[in-house]
Amino acid sequence: MADPALSTEVDAVIVGGGPAGLSAALNLGRARASVVLIDAGRPRNAATLRSHGFLTRDGVSPLELRKLARAELAAYPNVRVLDRTSVSALTADDTASDFRFIAALHGRPGGPSAVAARAVLLATGLRETLPDIPSLRAFYGMTVFSCAACDAWELQDRPLALIGETPDLAARARLIARWTDRLTVFTNGADVVGAVEEAELAASGLRVERAEIADLEGERGAVEAVRLADGRVVPIEGGFVRPRWHSALDFASGLGVDRDLDGHLIVDASGRTSVPGLYGAGDAAAPGPQQLIVAAGQGARAAAVLVHDLVGVTTAH
Ligand SMILES: Cc1cc2nc3c(=O)[nH]c(=O)nc-3n(C[C@H](O)[C@H](O)[C@H](O)COP(=O)(O)OP(=O)(O)OC[C@H]3O[C@@H](n4cnc5c(N)ncnc54)[C@H](O)[C@@H]3O)c2cc1C
Repeated sequence: MADPALSTEVDAVIVGGGPAGLSAALNLGRARASVVLIDAGRPRNAATLRSHGFLTRDGVSPLELRKLARAELAAYPNVRVLDRTSVSALTADDTASDFRFIAALHGRPGGPSAVAARAVLLATGLRETLPDIPSLRAFYGMTVFSCAACDAWELQDRPLALIGETPDLAARARLIARWTDRLTVFTNGADVVGAVEEAELAASGLRVERAEIADLEGERGAVEAVRLADGRVVPIEGGFVRPRWHSALDFASGLGVDRDLDGHLIVDASGRTSVPGLYGAGDAAAPGPQQLIVAAGQGARAAAVLVHDLVGVTTAH
C-alpha cells in the first residue's frame, strides 16, 4: 500500500468531497486503501443553512455535516484530503500497468500537480441553473428550495409557489401538493404545462399562472410574493423552484465514459461505470439530484465494490 501522505501514486482517487466522496473515503480508509480525496469545496447545498432527512443529523447545517465527516477521516492516515483543489483533467495512463488513471490537479501552491491511481470515484455532484428571476438567489435555500423531500415539511400548509420552465412541472406540482393545497404553479411564460395537465391540477385545487415573473419580493431570505410582469402580485410564504441540472464532468470526457442524455454518469447498482476502474456516486450519477444520505450510501457502496475489484473478488458484502 502506498502512503498517500508522501506518494502521488495511490489505490484510489476520489473526486469530490460531498457526502458521496466523504463516505467513500471513510470506507476505503477502513479497507486500508491509500486514498487521495480532492475537493474544490463548492457543494450544491451551500445555499442552505439546514439539511434535513439525514438519520441522526436531521436539521444539521451542511457545513457541519462535512466538518464531522472530515474529523472522522483524520483517524485514517492512509486517507489524504486535498482541499480547494480541483481535478482539471482525468486521463487513462497507458504507460503503467497498475495505475490506470492520472488526475491532473489545479489547486493550492505547493500541492501536487497530478496523482496516479488504480481506481477513481467520481463524486462531483451537480451544478444548477435557476430560472432567470433577479432576486431568486437571495431566497434560494432560505424559503425557496428545489427538493420537496428535503424541505417541504417546514413549509407545509402554507401558500407556496412552484416556479419552473421544464416539462416535468405538473408532475412536481402533484408531488408538492402532498404538503400543501395552497400551491400556485408559475411557468414564467414557458409553455410547459398542457391544457389537460392544467385541468388535472385545477381539479386538485392547484392554480397555474402562465405570466412572466418580474421578480420575487420579501426580505432577509423570507419570500413574501411573486410579482408578475403584468403588475399583479401573488402573496406566498415559501416555494419550490425547478432548476436545470448540469453534471460537471468535462474534465473526464477523454475517458469516453457512458453518460445519460442529461450528462449524468451511467452506473450499475454497485457504482461501476462503463470504464473499468472508474466509479460514480451521489448526484453525479444517474438519475441525478437526490439526497445527502443517498449520496453517502452510494459512496459507501462504491467503496466496497472498488476494494473487491482491486482484490479481484466478487463476494457479497
Ligand atoms: C438548496 C439545497 C438544499 C438541499 N437540502 C437538502 C436537505 O435538506 N437534505 C438532503 O438530503 N439533501 C439536500 N440537498 C441535496 C444535497 O445537497 C445533495 O443531494 C448532496 O449534496 C449530493 O452529494 P454529492 O456528494 O453527490 O455532491 P456535493 O455535495 O455537491 O459535493 C460535490 C463536491 O465535489 C466537488 N467537485 C466538483 N467537481 C470537482 C472537481 N473537478 N475537482 C474536485 N472537486 C470537485 C464540489 O466542489 C463539491 O464539493 C439540497 C440541495 C440544495 C441545492
